[in-house]
Formats: sequence, structure tokens, C-alpha cells
Amino acid sequence: MTSNLEYLEQNDPDVFKALKGEELRQTTGIELIPSENYTFPEVLATLGSVFTNKYSEGYPGRRYYGGQEFTDQIENLARDRAKAVFRAEHANVQPLSGSAMNQAVYLGLLEPGDTILAMDLSHGGHLTHGAPVSHMGKLFNFIRYVTDPVDGSIDFDKVRGDALRERPKMILAGYTSYPREMDYEKFKSIADEVGALTMCDASHYGGLVAGGAMKNPLDYGFDVMTTTTHKSLRGPRGGMILCRKDLRSRIDKSVFPGLQGGPHMNAIAAIAVTLLKAQQDDFKVYAHQVLKNSKVLAETLMARQGKLITGGTDNHMMVLNTVESYGIDGKIAEEVLDQAAITTNKQIIPDDPNPPLKPSGVRIGTPAATTRGMLEADMEKLGGWIADCLSNPQDENLLASVRAEVEQLCRGFPVPGIE
Ligand SMILES: *Cc1c(COP(=O)(O)O)cnc(C)c1O
Repeated sequence: MTSNLEYLEQNDPDVFKALKGEELRQTTGIELIPSENYTFPEVLATLGSVFTNKYSEGYPGRRYYGGQEFTDQIENLARDRAKAVFRAEHANVQPLSGSAMNQAVYLGLLEPGDTILAMDLSHGGHLTHGAPVSHMGKLFNFIRYVTDPVDGSIDFDKVRGDALRERPKMILAGYTSYPREMDYEKFKSIADEVGALTMCDASHYGGLVAGGAMKNPLDYGFDVMTTTTHKSLRGPRGGMILCRKDLRSRIDKSVFPGLQGGPHMNAIAAIAVTLLKAQQDDFKVYAHQVLKNSKVLAETLMARQGKLITGGTDNHMMVLNTVESYGIDGKIAEEVLDQAAITTNKQIIPDDPNPPLKPSGVRIGTPAATTRGMLEADMEKLGGWIADCLSNPQDENLLASVRAEVEQLCRGFPVPGIE
């Protein structure tokens, strides 16, 4: 029988060649972008399955199309597993991406013009937390909290003062580039004092919450938690919303029909698969190892003149100030590391004096490397190579020899789902 991939090879060699090239790139180099990961083979199988053929507007038991016997089964499975994994009263697994998921929450629970208190973008907040270039930034009135320049802590007296003065309707915790755990109790008590809803966007670390390695905001009484499904959670690209039972109808109506049409049932099947994996012991081991690897990588960099924002990490990522550490901006650092087959991403730092496309740092994270099975000793090697490259950005011979070492290391750690 001809396999689906063989059809592709015969009938569209251009796309087939690019796919093989990407497989090789993902296998031979080391992936240190903190938002990326390697998904499970079972997820790749469900994503490329016949569930992609099906229209399922609505929710299980209440659909606008016939033929939902099996789609209802998988969406119910995905929702029940999400509730179990995150100790949530309700789960919506239909958001097509992390951005759509956050938009659905704001639009479902707030009115245009309402005030939302969220983390400043250069201090770690996400575009969807009200960046002026985002539609949400125009529709809602975002105000900001920032972090301490030395230890990265959040000044909760100031957050409380701002909340009492501005009376936000929602207080948003969570981040895309902040290397620390958050104090949910403090956010919650300020929100209660001013009558604001609490939302945590755990997009980056949803998998670490699932694996029991980081705190679950829902355990601290948060009203809503959102997470992407493709970052540390290691599933298909998508988003999910977890919330209290009494918010269920507003959240569900906001996702459909408010914001989206047909859900991607192939992705929902893959989310169900991911959430079964997330309940298994292997996944808990992975989640804790991500943090151990992150600590060792951070310590190795700091021992080699690396200056990390907040002076370290409690989670899966670190932000390296490349200007202060090695005298090169984040764009150059990213390019230099790319030459050595080490993938990172340039990153603005708090109150960055430099522009976003030439920022002062890079963001480095351990989920993908940990999925491959790398451990502390591998992080020590990687940290040393990163420091070697960034201290000698012009030395082509050195970059080539580090590349050879990286490729040699990677040969010992196959990527799940790639033969
Ligand atoms: C990645 C991320 C998102 C957006 O997810 P997309 O799937 O890229 O739209 C939203 N919030 C945070 C905090 C993120 O890190």
C-alpha cells in the first residue's frame, strides 16, 4: 500500500523536499527556543488523520452538522482530560491558537474599553497582553506592572496601589519571557480587594504545571487559566481555556460562535492524546527535568560571564543579556549561535534601550532538549559552547568546530516522530 508520505513524495516533490529538510534541521541541531518542543509521534499521527475532514461547529451533543459520533467522543475526552490534568471545573479545547484563546477570554468576560492590569511587554508580557500593535491593545485599556531590575521580583505594594487607583476589571498573570515563578496568592488578594477577575496566561509553562513542576494558578483560586498546547505541554499547535463552572457559558459562547467557526478536530484529537500522556509518570519526570536542566544551563552561563535577567531562573527559560555579557546585541548572538546549530531567539530585556529587531538579549529554554532526553551533563556542555561562541563571534573556525560537536551530541538523542 502507498503511504500518505509516499503520495506526497510522488506528487509534490517540492513540499516533500522541504519537509525532509526540516526533519534533518530538527534532528541535527539543538533547539533552545523556550516556546518550542518536539511533539509525540501519536500527535503527529492524529494531526495528519481524517479528523481534519470534519466540520464540527458547536460543542459535543449540540452541533450544527451531522456525523459527530466520533468527534463528540474525542472532544469529550480532551475536555475531561484537561479538567483532570489542571484540576479545572471547565475546559474549552477549541481555540485555534494561543492568541485566539486570550482574545476569547477578554471578549467573553469583559466589555470593550475595560481596564486590564498586565505585565509590561519588555518585562515579559506577551503581545496579546495589550501590545499597542495588537487589536486587543486598541480594544481594551491595558495598564502595566513591571519587575525589579535586579532580582526580577514584582512590587506588589505598587501593583495594589495601581489596582486601587485604576480599578481594573481583570488582573492578568503569566508571561512569555520571564524566568521566575509567580506569586498567585498576592495577585488574587489584590484582585479580590478591587473586585477584578483573575486570569493567568500559562502558555509557556502549561506543561510544567501539568507535570507538577510549577504552581497551578487554579489552585490559588484564579478564575481563568489559558495555555497553548504546543509549548512545554508538547502537543499540537492550539490553545485551551480552563475556568470556573459559572464562567462556562460565557467562555464557550465567546470561542464559538463569538470568535471562531469550525474547530480543528484533528488538533482536538491530538490534544486528547497529549493530555493522556501528561497524566503519565514519564511526563512528570520530563517536567521536573526541564527545570533541573534549566538551572544547570543558567549556572554554566553565569560561570562564563553570562549576565541573566533576574540573576537566574526558576522555570524552563533564561534571558541572557548579550550586550552586557559579551558586547554583542541579541540579533548577532542569535545569528552566531545559528552558525553553530544552536537555535535561540533574540529577546528584548526590561526597558530595553535597543529596538525589538536588535534587542539586548536572547531567550534560551530547555523543554525541547529535555524531550530528546538530554540531562544536566549535556546542559553543561551546551552552556560552555554557547559561551565560547558568544565570546568569539567572529571566529569562523571555532563556530564550525562547535557545530560539529553539537551535531555529534545530537546524534545520541533521536527526535520523537522522526525516523
Ligand atoms: C505563545 C504565547 C501566546 C500565543 O500563542 P500563539 O499560539 O503563538 O498565538 C500567548 N500568550 C503567551 C504568554 C505566549 O507565550
